[in-house]
Amino acid sequence: MKSKKLVIKDGNIIDPSSRTNCIGDLVIENNLIIDLIPNSNQTYSDEYEIINAKNMIVSPGFIDVHTHLRDPGQEWKETISTGSRSAAKGGFTTITSMPNTIPALDNANIVNDLVNRSKTDAIIRILPIGSITIGQNGVNLSPMNELAEAGVIGFSDDGNPVSDSNIMKQALTYSLYSDLPIINHAEDKKIVGKGLMNEGIVSNRLGLFGADSSAETVMIARDLILAESIGAKLHIPHISSSSSLHLLEIYKNMGLNVTAEVTPHHLTLNENWVYGKKGEVPDYIDEDSYDTNTKVNPPLRTISDANDMTKGLSEGIIDIIATDHAPHSDIEKHCSFADAAHGINVLETAFSSVFDLYLKKSISMDRIIESLTSRPAEIFKLNKIGGLKKGYNADVVVIDPKAKWKVERHKFVSKSSNTPLLETNMNAKILVTIYDGKVIYKDGNYNV
Ligand SMILES: [Zn+2]
Repeated sequence: MKSKKLVIKDGNIIDPSSRTNCIGDLVIENNLIIDLIPNSNQTYSDEYEIINAKNMIVSPGFIDVHTHLRDPGQEWKETISTGSRSAAKGGFTTITSMPNTIPALDNANIVNDLVNRSKTDAIIRILPIGSITIGQNGVNLSPMNELAEAGVIGFSDDGNPVSDSNIMKQALTYSLYSDLPIINHAEDKKIVGKGLMNEGIVSNRLGLFGADSSAETVMIARDLILAESIGAKLHIPHISSSSSLHLLEIYKNMGLNVTAEVTPHHLTLNENWVYGKKGEVPDYIDEDSYDTNTKVNPPLRTISDANDMTKGLSEGIIDIIATDHAPHSDIEKHCSFADAAHGINVLETAFSSVFDLYLKKSISMDRIIESLTSRPAEIFKLNKIGGLKKGYNADVVVIDPKAKWKVERHKFVSKSSNTPLLETNMNAKILVTIYDGKVIYKDGNYNV
């Protein structure tokens, strides 16, 4: 059967890759974008399926370069299948698999297995990231060329930093052959010590061990120095502090080939959220006075840090938004703050979280969409995705900017629901997700 042509009609089409922001029609045939018609009065014959996008935003499908899929090895938290469906609900059509699976993605066989299973289990595109070191133990380099040939789009030991500076130096040197970025989880474990959250008034009031942001900035400083001397491509994940941002700006201004990402939570939440009162500061502390869903690495920082991250993203010093989607089951969060696992479940709330920054006029919609689409595609050299140009893959998302919804535990498509945003009212909703020319998600329903 001949597949129908698809028209997304009268939407506000925002495509930063072609500097487009207009009202118009987007025409899709088979799996490709075939036309973008501004101010269209066109009528379409029966062979077209029409999606009415009046008053909606039409964007390229989102790309997340930092997703923890937990598969293989921790399938009770998430699987390729549930992670990809959760992503589609959040408007993502391309996500990555961070390599801290069990076993880690440190050789071609494991990467091939993931790629093959993704073909049957995932409803969107999944791209692997390979380990920097074998078993992510920071001691011996993984076979980086073999991993590059297997299709990884970058290297990371995320979850763990590469603490040994000489190993990091070697990894950056080897990355020159594949021209793929090295993504080092920037954390000096010695500075963090027993730290469980950002050090400051909140950690003091709660009686929790804190660690200040120097733990991040020191490691970023080392990585910038090494990347500069080697000429390698460094990508800084989940930047969280003003001091790190300052350093990044200095090195970018010097012309270094460095890029950085920030998570929705480091943009929109802060250490006050650890109190478990949605950012309110309580008058007194009792045994219920913290929310383990706020435990994340790097930790939620101060209001001033979060504001600086937003400014840095808006100005392009920070290149992209990446979720660091880190699903954990209830049992890993229903415990003491010290025992709780690090990580927040982000894919389904990411866009609505950052949409609030747009409502506050802290950042433009074009810049938000660029940081979720064309810019990550550029950094990770992903061809024909992240834009709505003719001939590009038809990965598209339709967003209702006026919709309101509430984050509710039972509505999560992800296997986990570990987010401090539970019961929070959100603005803007993903209405339709189109992957490879097919409507895979619409109004809460999946077509695959
Ligand atoms: Zn990390």
